Amino acid sequence: MKTRAIKTHAIKSGGAPRAVIVICDSLRADLIMPETAPFLSELRERAAAFAAHRSVFPSTTRASAASIATGCRPARHGLLGNTMALDEGEGLICRSAGAPDFRDRIRRATGRTLHVPTLAERLRWHGESSVSCANVSPGAAYFQDPDGHGWVHHSAGSFGPGRVAIEDPASAGLTKGIAGDRAMTERFCSDVLEERAPSVAILWLSEPDYTGHHAPLGSPQHLAAIAGADTLVKQVFETVRRLDSTGEDILFVTGSDHGMETVADSIDLTELLIAAGLKDSRESRELVVAPNGTAATLYFADPAGELVGRVARFLAGENWVGEMFAGERLADAGLPTDTPMQIAVSLAAEDRENPHGVAGYAPIVQDPSDNESKIGFGQHGGLGPHEQRPFLIVEGGGFERGERRQPSSLVDIAPTVLRHLHMDHDDMDGRALPHRVSER
Ligand SMILES: [Zn+2]
Repeated sequence: MKTRAIKTHAIKSGGAPRAVIVICDSLRADLIMPETAPFLSELRERAAAFAAHRSVFPSTTRASAASIATGCRPARHGLLGNTMALDEGEGLICRSAGAPDFRDRIRRATGRTLHVPTLAERLRWHGESSVSCANVSPGAAYFQDPDGHGWVHHSAGSFGPGRVAIEDPASAGLTKGIAGDRAMTERFCSDVLEERAPSVAILWLSEPDYTGHHAPLGSPQHLAAIAGADTLVKQVFETVRRLDSTGEDILFVTGSDHGMETVADSIDLTELLIAAGLKDSRESRELVVAPNGTAATLYFADPAGELVGRVARFLAGENWVGEMFAGERLADAGLPTDTPMQIAVSLAAEDRENPHGVAGYAPIVQDPSDNESKIGFGQHGGLGPHEQRPFLIVEGGGFERGERRQPSSLVDIAPTVLRHLHMDHDDMDGRALPHRVSER
């Protein structure tokens, strides 16, 4: 049975514990250097840095947003990537989880949204509130709080508690890229942090993800996007420490959801399955591929049927497949075993450097809904070493400065925040991060 801690502090009064989280989408830990990200480089030295921080699988923004919000891996929260095949009554069809209506679709197909409570819901149990400002896809924004327990601000529509649509001209005009991120950060600092002062405030920047998908990693454009995001994290940090100079009340967390690899090639997995006699046609519903960048998930109309084994044997012989998880083995990757999704693959990563000296290549699975060439640009989704290298820095809240080498994960952020707020956090996959360097 779940027990709920008694609230030990008043809402918004001076000295109440709060947490502020800033996510720089796709920023690889190894690309935080004094020349590219002077503020984060310096903060990493004088705060608690988590050197062995890892993403979840698939390492996509939407699954990651749900893992940060719930402290659980996709196996438990149920959002299995940037795309998922859903059966809304006409057989399995691949859908983008980034679309504004995906929340309604997954509810229609499965009867629910996320399977475990989010930070927003847990805060509401205690009479506290959360506010999220996100410049990513609508799906990634809404899956931080799909059932409307707190406030979510996004250009595709902003919502308050009860999923009541609110007038939000400050978000309506935001576009991805550093200009939109900057406008969102200004508003986050003045309106959210200073005025509304919620217990948890989350700012999710589009950079350097947005530029990383449209330019080579390490190119001047990509480095400028990293520098831009670095400046915005600094702005939030300075606002936070102006509001709480001791660092005792406001816990400051900054990190990324995943890193990136350079796209080496594009694999038309659906076509390969048809050619191998494993799928009837592009439109057939017995087996549906959900492309997730450098990973793919495969959904079966008959999850217990013999087709699962035949497809797994075919994929095992393909040289572009890095790791494959099928049936019960999906649990090893943090994925559920009891859904139509019965096979997940991470594409084979290589460690060679791109023309800008940034290591790591991997192929992607072609997404039929997106015809732009991605080759030579950044991508993520799989288990490659660089896409699995997000960064994490925690400051204030009793965290001793210094580097931690023990493994940490996106799912550790929610329990860390809840511990700081004196709320229960023992029913998640993650665990609250160590305050001391020597702690295990
Ligand atoms: Zn992302």
